[in-house]
Amino acid sequence: MRVCVIGTGYVGTVTAACFAHVGHDVVGLEQDPDKVAKLRKGILPFVEPGTEPLLQEGIAAGNLRFTDDVADAVTASEVIFICVGTPLTPSGDANVDALRAVATSLAPHLHGEYKAIVTKSTVPVGSGDWITMLIEDAMTPDQRSGHSFGVVSNPEFLREGSAVTDFLYPDRIVLGSSSEKAIDLVAQLYEPVVDQSFTEGRAELAPVRLIKTSLESAEMIKYAANAFLATKISFINEMANICERIGGDIDQIAEGIGLDHRIGESFLNAGLGWGGSCFRKDILALKRTAEEYGYSPQLLQATVEVNLLQRMTVVRKLQEELKILKGKRIGLLGLAFKPGTDDLRDAPALDLIDRLHNAGSRVMVYDPVVTDLGPRNESVRFAESVEDLADGADAIVLVTEWDEFRGLDLADLGPRMRTRVVVDGRNAIDPAEAAEAHFRYLGVGR
Ligand code: NAD
Repeated sequence: MRVCVIGTGYVGTVTAACFAHVGHDVVGLEQDPDKVAKLRKGILPFVEPGTEPLLQEGIAAGNLRFTDDVADAVTASEVIFICVGTPLTPSGDANVDALRAVATSLAPHLHGEYKAIVTKSTVPVGSGDWITMLIEDAMTPDQRSGHSFGVVSNPEFLREGSAVTDFLYPDRIVLGSSSEKAIDLVAQLYEPVVDQSFTEGRAELAPVRLIKTSLESAEMIKYAANAFLATKISFINEMANICERIGGDIDQIAEGIGLDHRIGESFLNAGLGWGGSCFRKDILALKRTAEEYGYSPQLLQATVEVNLLQRMTVVRKLQEELKILKGKRIGLLGLAFKPGTDDLRDAPALDLIDRLHNAGSRVMVYDPVVTDLGPRNESVRFAESVEDLADGADAIVLVTEWDEFRGLDLADLGPRMRTRVVVDGRNAIDPAEAAEAHFRYLGVGR
């Protein structure tokens, strides 16, 4: 099938490359000329494992291309995915400017062949109908009477760091629309993913569940999923905080409750809290929507607050251990909000840098992929290696659990440091090993 993907960021590029991989004809439409130039050459403008080979495969096979020309991309396609950003506004709403711009830009090109317009961006509940309205408003009367399009919500659940696998082998696919014709068209597009027919040797895998819902339900499913996942992490962090005061090991507790199938083991890792481009913005946007309609969601508020406090527990632990932070050298291991990505959106490391810098500490940072912090470059010193980070440090803080930090050679790092203090913000270091290397070890809830 002929597919257009609008907005080639993390979600759009993975979507485009994966649809090409399963055999569709895909064009990516992007407004940023630098990104278009890179993508055309098969260069991924960000870090996402496994995506670049698929990009190059599609370009070489001739079924994946990139453009900045709306008419070209839209006219050629029967299914159009909107994957533009919906960032947080200062008031806590989702910024839908890009969504609006895309919807109105589509109108002149919707004639002739019927098209499904699909929101893959996370959009406030009701956006599907709003997009229909915007497009219809921008159409000529002739176009309007032709009923040439239907809007579908297809929320995306991929995780950065494992986006390709998540896209090709999803837990479920959700399609919401009031138009059966549009839903059927998108369901047809997903057939190779649903029946896993594109994977040789993995054909024995069970078909992926595809659920069809109303437009509003599909939009709400995405918010509910993110709110639940973030709440699960805030919950285990709250338990960890209680453990720190009364005793108990949070890892044992997570195992003990996670084995209950009603709870489940995943997303029960205590640490310095969640981050990333989605959780905070989506929870706050959902909260705003609820408030607009007369409901004040206490649990969502608590999920966000617990998370913010959790980031600061690191600073509290450093203060307790080092006393005055002014003039101390603190090394942060990891900057990205999670391993496997270079995404810094709402990364806990950024809050830590600001707090420690304001407290008068010298903040040193090392991340395997992030080497630029924009305006924060002024407040940090980039180390070239873990060893370089440890040299002269008063404490190191494990912020992102990159694989290479799991096997830290503390016995080697210890003698380089001024004081042997390690704050393990991800409970990824063995406390016994830390003790053996004469470190003062401070984990989360253990
Ligand atoms: P992103 O900022 O990485 O990418 C958005 C892209 O859209 C950018 O390249 C931007 O230049 C482009 N764009 C904006 N306006 C455009 C226009 N008018 N025409 C063409 N291109 C345009 O964002 P992202 O992380 O890929 O997220 C996209 C959406 O998907 C968001 O709504 C997000 O909430 C949702 N989502 C993200 C993730 C994730 O892990 N990143 C997961 C699931 C859902």
